[in-house]
Amino acid sequence: MTERVPVIAGNWKMHRDHLEAIQLVQKLAYHLQEDDYEGQEVVVCPPFVALRSVQTLLQSDKLPIHLGAQNCHSEDEGAFTGEISATMLARLDVRYVVVGHSERRELFGETDEIVNAKVAAVQRHKMRPILCVGEVLDQREAGQAVDVVVSQLQGSLAGIRVADPEELVVAYEPVWAIGTGKTATPQDAQDMCAAIRTELASLYDEQTAAGIRIQYGGSVKPGNVRELMSQPDIDGALVGGASLSSEDFALIVGHR
Ligand code: PEP
Repeated sequence: MTERVPVIAGNWKMHRDHLEAIQLVQKLAYHLQEDDYEGQEVVVCPPFVALRSVQTLLQSDKLPIHLGAQNCHSEDEGAFTGEISATMLARLDVRYVVVGHSERRELFGETDEIVNAKVAAVQRHKMRPILCVGEVLDQREAGQAVDVVVSQLQGSLAGIRVADPEELVVAYEPVWAIGTGKTATPQDAQDMCAAIRTELASLYDEQTAAGIRIQYGGSVKPGNVRELMSQPDIDGALVGGASLSSEDFALIVGHR
């Protein structure tokens, strides 16, 4: 079986300015032990304005934490007031870019087509998209969850090539579990992540699908991360609220 290196990413959303961001990373590094980093990737995704200060800190202190961004525009440059391009992120040593988060889809009207163009932009600049997919509660209750997620994958990955499975991370984030304190049961999360892998095998091939990391996201906390991540198709976590506490995020990273 292809070995997948789990990836645990903190999505800070619109929290922490550039000074608070430095403090948060410093505290996180203080709480993490050397072996917490082993065999997995740790990522922090601060707001855009904090990327530069966090990048400088990570480099100067040689911290084995990767930098992530929460969004990007699909074009490399142009008259897009207020937007940030993947080109700009790549120059800041950003390694991962969250794309298609449900808050972007819901609040900013991002369609699968837009998400698809962003995935392409992130790859063009040799970064790795964390592609978010997930159903809302009504869809789950109507038994449509897998269909919804499969359709999001098909739309968001249309025409996207994956030469190396490490180039793409998929985050399964049931929308009803984000920021609500409700978590999918480990079995439900596993079932969906397995369905995602099956779809990735039909979009690509078995071997590629076996190598793509699939995260679970939705109210991940120190108390539930171990069981979620022990599921065979769950290869990490995308953590919102709990990543704003250095103690909690360190416990999540060090859950093993
Ligand atoms: C998220 O924002 O991606 C997320 C999963 O948030 P939370 O952990 O707060 O549910």
